[in-house]
Parts: sequence; structure tokens; C-alpha cells
Amino acid sequence: MAEETIFSKIIRKEIDADVLYQDELVTAFRDINPRTPTHVLIIPNKLIPTTNDVESEDEAMMGRMFTVAKKIAKEEGIAEDGYRLIVNCNAHGGQEVYHVHMHLVGGSPLGPLLMV
Ligand code: 5GP
Repeated sequence: MAEETIFSKIIRKEIDADVLYQDELVTAFRDINPRTPTHVLIIPNKLIPTTNDVESEDEAMMGRMFTVAKKIAKEEGIAEDGYRLIVNCNAHGGQEVYHVHMHLVGGSPLGPLLMV
């Protein structure tokens, strides 16, 4: 059984977060330490520690993360200029929170690769 992270508490509204979207599959909220003018995290409501743990039964959730990213990018006014979606995995990927999350970053030019 995977260990819960702070993100499970955000999903259950047990701790404060700037939640932009939530449905039965995913939750989206602003990153507490934004690296870009727009920095939103989109997560499955189910605790999946890393992308190594994603199963075929999770495909609807993973797909919803993309459609919610698109919706939020539009709402944030960054869709046309563009943005980046990042999912880090394990130590070499720089993952700090072991609950799969997609970073939606944008609002300024990001360069060829965002290394942080
Ligand atoms: P990772 O490095 O795992 O891909 O990214 C984890 C992200 O979660 C970081 O950008 C970090 O700022 C964010 N984060 C960590 N704890 C919290 C929290 O309690 N609330 C919010 N909103 N973001 C968090």
C-alpha cells in the first residue's frame, strides 16, 4: 500500500490549497512555490506514487489530466502563447512528492528545456 502524501489531504480539502478544478477523477491546484507566472499541479484523485505505477485502468484519469490542463491553460490566458506540461518520475526525474502530478507551467517564455 502506497503511503499518502500532502496531496491526498489537498484532494480531501483537509489542508488549504488554491484549488482551480476538481471532479471525480482529478484535482488541479496552484503550486505553493511557483517557478513561472502560471504554475498549476494536476493530479489524479487516486494515489498513484509515480508514472511507473500507472496501470491501464488509470488511463481515463491520465487522459483527464490533459483535458483539464488544456482548460486551465485557456482560463489562465496562456493557451495561445504556449506552456509546458511536465511529469517527473523518481530521483533522477526530480520527483519530490510521490503522488503522480502534472506541472502546467507558462506565462513567460520557458526556453528549450525547464531544468528545475
Ligand atoms: P515534483 O518535484 O515532485 O515534481 O514537484 C512537487 C511540487 O509540489 C513542487 O513544485 C512543490 O512546490 C509542490 N508542493 C509541495 N508541497 C505542496 C503543498 O503543500 N501545496 C502545494 N500547493 N504545492 C506543493
